Amino acid sequence: MRVIDGKVEGRELTKKFLEEVMLIPNGEKVNMCIQCGTCSASCPTGYAMDFTPRQIVAALRANIIHEVLVSNSVWLCASCYACTVRCPAGIPWTDIMYQLKRLGEDEGIIPRVKKGHELATAFNSIIDKYGLSAEFLLMLKFYFRTGIFKALGQLGFATKMLTKGRLDLGAHKIKGIKGLQKMMAVMEERK
Ligand code: SF4
Ligand code: SF4
Repeated sequence: MRVIDGKVEGRELTKKFLEEVMLIPNGEKVNMCIQCGTCSASCPTGYAMDFTPRQIVAALRANIIHEVLVSNSVWLCASCYACTVRCPAGIPWTDIMYQLKRLGEDEGIIPRVKKGHELATAFNSIIDKYGLSAEFLLMLKFYFRTGIFKALGQLGFATKMLTKGRLDLGAHKIKGIKGLQKMMAVMEERK
């Protein structure tokens, strides 16, 4: 993990992030935030975030975006778009949350609490291979990364789901998986 001490590096990281945000449709509106807090009040997971959406703008202005990246915030975003729809300044918050995730990944900055990051990493590896999610495999991969014995606590629930036909143990590839993998490889090269 790259550790950033001091303001200069924090400023550089913030600058890089803002340049990327400017490429998002309506991204430039991030400068028009009036700190009203509507986004944070609308966010269903905001109560558990170290930095709510409103506080992330404040962190950007204070050049401490690294603190946001090592927090749990972006990995708790449920992509529900409530913040984006309700922001009076028209700031595309959900897209900005995705951009924060990309920045963290590009810079190799891992959050202090890793669960959300590990779940996303496991999910991505399944999409890379199959083109769609596979619930059981996802849980297996997640618990292998975060502590396999914790999976025991879910056994009762998993058994109930299984007996009701609500849990598919298999993993199924989409028809055009090779095409999807080629597209993803091109996108990786263009980073
Ligand atoms: S709702 Fe929009 S203007 Fe209000 S604090 Fe959030 S980002 Fe800023
Ligand atoms: S998109 Fe993410 S940040 Fe925005 S309200 Fe939904 S969960 Fe919160």
